[in-house]
Amino acid sequence: MATMTATSAEVPAVPTLLDARRLVVKIGSALLVDGKTGKIRRQWLDALADDVAACRARGTEVVIVTSGAVAAGREHLGLIGRALRLEEKQAAAATGQIRLAHAYQETLARHDITVAQVLLTLEDTEERRRHLNGRATIDTLLKLGAVPVINENDTVATAEIRFGDNDRLGARVAQMISADTLVLLSDIDGLYTADPRKDPDATHIPVVRELTRAIEDMAGEPPPGYSSGGMVTKIAAARVAMAGGCRMVIAKGARMNPLAALEKTTAEGGAPCTWFLPSAEPSNARKAWIAGHLNPAGAFVVDDGAARALGQGASLLPAGVASVEGAFERGDLVLVKDGTGREIARGLSAYSAEDARLIVRRKSNEIETILGYRGRDEMIHRDDLVVR
Ligand code: GLU
Repeated sequence: MATMTATSAEVPAVPTLLDARRLVVKIGSALLVDGKTGKIRRQWLDALADDVAACRARGTEVVIVTSGAVAAGREHLGLIGRALRLEEKQAAAATGQIRLAHAYQETLARHDITVAQVLLTLEDTEERRRHLNGRATIDTLLKLGAVPVINENDTVATAEIRFGDNDRLGARVAQMISADTLVLLSDIDGLYTADPRKDPDATHIPVVRELTRAIEDMAGEPPPGYSSGGMVTKIAAARVAMAGGCRMVIAKGARMNPLAALEKTTAEGGAPCTWFLPSAEPSNARKAWIAGHLNPAGAFVVDDGAARALGQGASLLPAGVASVEGAFERGDLVLVKDGTGREIARGLSAYSAEDARLIVRRKSNEIETILGYRGRDEMIHRDDLVVR
């Protein structure tokens, strides 16, 4: 019993958006685009942009993952009143995406916020090198003060390589950029013990700390027909986000200023919602992934000075690397060994083995001259490194 009390005392309180440092907000098509007219709901979007500006004013970085390209584009191609084939959806997305990007640009410009469009496919987030590139670009945009507006690159994403729903895309993006909070703005205010539209006894669940089988069963069946999303993809998103150490919240988006409504807990008068809370901090979960990697592609053998510096939390610089073993690409997982061949760390290499061999023992400011491009200063950045 004593243990149980201690455990429950350690459980963190229900969070609010006020604690978010790096926030991903996923916006569904139905919120953003009027299904009948195909027009973007500007008033709603303006209010959302006001929320985003308020988040940023208190120091929260914001990334938007938006749906709505197909919905905003179909009318302009005369594709209305019927279900679309995949290539028609892709065509609709190609024209709708311009309109979406433009709408975000206009609404955030009211707050002097610059918008940047990022289109991703599933492959871009699964393949380590592209994943890293995407992450570096989004990181840079955030550092430069922009709001990245992300959607799936529907035009090239064929059936096999599609996310197909932006819930999971949002979660993958959150994991990719080590966000601490993912908001899924939805047509439902969270998870219920059963489908509340069918079961009058369904009760709302405010906090989920573990994705048990029972929780998965509550999501029920995916919605019929064309619609992507539904509770099934939201639970799948929660799994990805939580594995990345990112908490996720499902809330109703249709109200005005839906993010502001998450600044208070429900008990304090905020919007009803369901929080999914991971057990680890973002960096821990990411590092756990690195630490648990089964298939190192090579190794850096480092000198004693570098070995000591790694122990103190530094990145691995080319100057501290004595030799490179194996064949690997940028972004692959490699071991870091000391002079005796013992593994002292592992991490994701910022350079291919070929390029790494050319810059070992060199200073970071020599990299560009040697390789002909300006890569990272570090061989392995400390964010990508786990010391044993
Ligand atoms: N990428 C699709 C679009 O912009 C949306 C996918 C989804 O609704 O989750 O229309």
